[in-house]
Amino acid sequence: MDIEARHVFQTEVDLKKAIRQNELTLLFQPKVNAKNNAIVGAEALVRWNHPERGLIPADQFIRIAEKSELIDEIGDWVLKQTCKILADWTKRKLPAVPISINISPKRFLKGDYPGLVRNVIRRWGIDPGLLEIEITETSLMENKTVVTDAIQQIRQLGIKFSLDDFGTGFSSINYLKQFRTIDTLKIDKSFIAKIDEDPQMSAIVKSFIMLAKGLDMEVIAEGVETAGQLKFLTDNDCPVVQGFIYSKPLFLSDFEVLLREGEIR
Ligand code: C2E
Ligand code: CA
Ligand code: CA
Ligand code: CA
Repeated sequence: MDIEARHVFQTEVDLKKAIRQNELTLLFQPKVNAKNNAIVGAEALVRWNHPERGLIPADQFIRIAEKSELIDEIGDWVLKQTCKILADWTKRKLPAVPISINISPKRFLKGDYPGLVRNVIRRWGIDPGLLEIEITETSLMENKTVVTDAIQQIRQLGIKFSLDDFGTGFSSINYLKQFRTIDTLKIDKSFIAKIDEDPQMSAIVKSFIMLAKGLDMEVIAEGVETAGQLKFLTDNDCPVVQGFIYSKPLFLSDFEVLLREGEIR
């Protein structure tokens, strides 16, 4: 095997073990309304707490996991773990906010995913309004009917959907109009990164915000890092943001401190 193939293989073996041995962990990045700095939600982001290599970022194993069934195992673990945490917040009377999880495109095509989601929600007795699912544009383009059906069934449970990395895929604008399956557009960070210096990019971001409004959808910007980006977004009717300007992804206990305070700074 060449070095790359061996790396992929070894990572798969290690990852399988990691899932069994509970080495995955979730970080939480706040979603903030910039008008009043209120915490309005969080995104759960997976990390691999490796015994030797420490905390491994998602990018270093998610892509490998996506090549096998492992991504489904990870996704199901994230779903259950998130519901468990939401139930715990309710029990401890913390002021819970909705948590979004990232679900890989392929997961909708296998078995009865809406059934699994329903069971997990009932098992933990959580308010479905506190769970959101982020999917990417590519997942909407492939196997349209199966995916749309699954999304509709899950939405009927009261769970909302965001379209992640919005703007980086193709021709899904037409799709959005036809099926009304998505609640929130999440503008990709590659666009946000350029609004300070590139007037064309700010025009594009403005048009995304208007598109969301026109389709009666919520909109959020991700990867907001600078005061200039934040001002542009609030000035243009997109006050809900996620990004390093407010907070990096946090360990659960640190996020819970923010949750109690209800706002950042
Ligand atoms: P994503 O879903 O687009 O998540 C946002 C990524 O942007 C996160 O990286 C987050 O830490 C990062 N980010 C947040 N604010 C900023 C900012 O201001 N500037 C910059 N430059 N980056 C920012 P992370 O956690 O490393 O995750 C990377 C990707 O891995 C995610 O992109 C998602 O596609 C995937 N991923 C993470 N967790 C999961 C999971 O539980 N399941 C699946 N299927 N994929 C996941
Ligand atoms: Ca995401
Ligand atoms: Ca994203
Ligand atoms: Ca991404």
